[in-house]
Amino acid sequence: MSAGATIAELAAQSGLPLLEARMLLERVLGKSRAWLIAHADEAADAEAQKAFAALAQRRSLGEPIAYILGVREFYGLEFGITPSVLIPRPETELLVELALERIPANAPVRVLDLGTGSGVIAVALARERPQARVTAVDVDYATLSVSRANAKRHKVGVRFFCGDWFGALTGESFDLIVSNPPYIAAGDPHLGQGDLAFEPQRALVGGADGLDCIRAIVAKAGAHLNPGAWLLFEHGYDQSEACSALLQAHGYRQLQSWPDLAGIARVSGARAAENASI
Ligand code: GLN
Repeated sequence: MSAGATIAELAAQSGLPLLEARMLLERVLGKSRAWLIAHADEAADAEAQKAFAALAQRRSLGEPIAYILGVREFYGLEFGITPSVLIPRPETELLVELALERIPANAPVRVLDLGTGSGVIAVALARERPQARVTAVDVDYATLSVSRANAKRHKVGVRFFCGDWFGALTGESFDLIVSNPPYIAAGDPHLGQGDLAFEPQRALVGGADGLDCIRAIVAKAGAHLNPGAWLLFEHGYDQSEACSALLQAHGYRQLQSWPDLAGIARVSGARAAENASI
């Protein structure tokens, strides 16, 4: 990079998509996107150029932007993200919206987020429904420090437990259970590509066909759902039929799948029976 490069030139010379270059420049210069655009023709100082070059290099080697910056926006909130957690995806906002439709604003309903990771689902729900009592679990203790910090950041009270699905929740029941579990099949070539190659496999891979975690959740959730309560979970682009079959086999009612913004069935769910436990 030349000595007197302007902000616009730095972005262009990085070879990164403009949006990504701007995100890194915002961080390096401590300025907003609007400021960068308004000051595109100003020269960046040598220190900023060097710092930007280091971040741009990491990005060029494939490191996800969310891990470089340590933050990602989800449901209009900024969350702290580390390489020990999955990077929140926009399609998971669908799960949040479907959950919110099922949580009344003025009742202390009990909501559970299974495999909470960075905690984005639990925290977004707790923010939107302050009356709800939100519980979140993750099997990985280190991961819970990320989700706890995100709950603190957004000033919500979420109960966190370390455990394997319902392992830490004996005897507890909920009015709504949500999850974005690992659902990619082991050996799926996508796991070696893009952001996925840098994300924890534990948070992505759901066994040989990707459905191991969903099978476990569907099988175990019945004992923890109040009568008529909903179970909602995200799944892979080609898994909605398998998920419906699982839900049906376990006696759930009102099976449904919902498409994400790309039109792909991405969330499935159903209700526990009204009178008998599943
Ligand atoms: N949505 C992610 C992906 O396909 C996977 C997340 C998950 O396994 N829960 O890239």
